[in-house]
Amino acid sequence: MVIKEFEEVLFPGVGVQVCGIRSARDEIVVEVASTGRPGRCPDCRRRASRVHSSYQRRLAERPVGPRQVVVRLTVRRFFCDGKSCPRKTFAEQIDGLTERYRRSSVALKSWLKTIAEQLGGRAGERLCRQLRLTAGRTRLLGLLEAPTVQDRAPRVLGVDEFAFRRGRTYGTILVDVETARVVDVLPNAHRRPSPPG
Ligand SMILES: [Zn+2]
Repeated sequence: MVIKEFEEVLFPGVGVQVCGIRSARDEIVVEVASTGRPGRCPDCRRRASRVHSSYQRRLAERPVGPRQVVVRLTVRRFFCDGKSCPRKTFAEQIDGLTERYRRSSVALKSWLKTIAEQLGGRAGERLCRQLRLTAGRTRLLGLLEAPTVQDRAPRVLGVDEFAFRRGRTYGTILVDVETARVVDVLPNAHRRPSPPG
């Protein structure tokens, strides 16, 4: 059955069920409903037992071939029954699929973040355009995690410049080579002189 296979390919191990697929010329809309256990209140961490309501979210997902994939997801809002908890209701987040306020799936975000880490903003934006991923430079750079204060200073530091056009430098990434983590992203401080000839 096509729907079941689509579900296994797109959402392995995620607590959702694909209810329908609509295919248009440029996009595939996947109707998905949450089926997992009730979530925990973000304030008191108590697991909910009563559904307040449900509503729809729209998430961008990784493309399939040349087509954009949009997930129309029905999620639940729960009551928090914690006596001393100030929160009355909360919307569920689905592990492996949604994050609060984010309009792309966790998997798509992971792709975009990898692109940002490998290429930086501008080259990343160009690659995204080629791959039909909707993400501009600002969004890509926003996915790079702010460097945390590390337990130790990096011993081996890799320096990589975002050089998008011959002879110009727009920014610099500092990478802790041993942990493969981005230590800092610096804006361009200078432009290289054009090479002679
Ligand atoms: Zn609560």
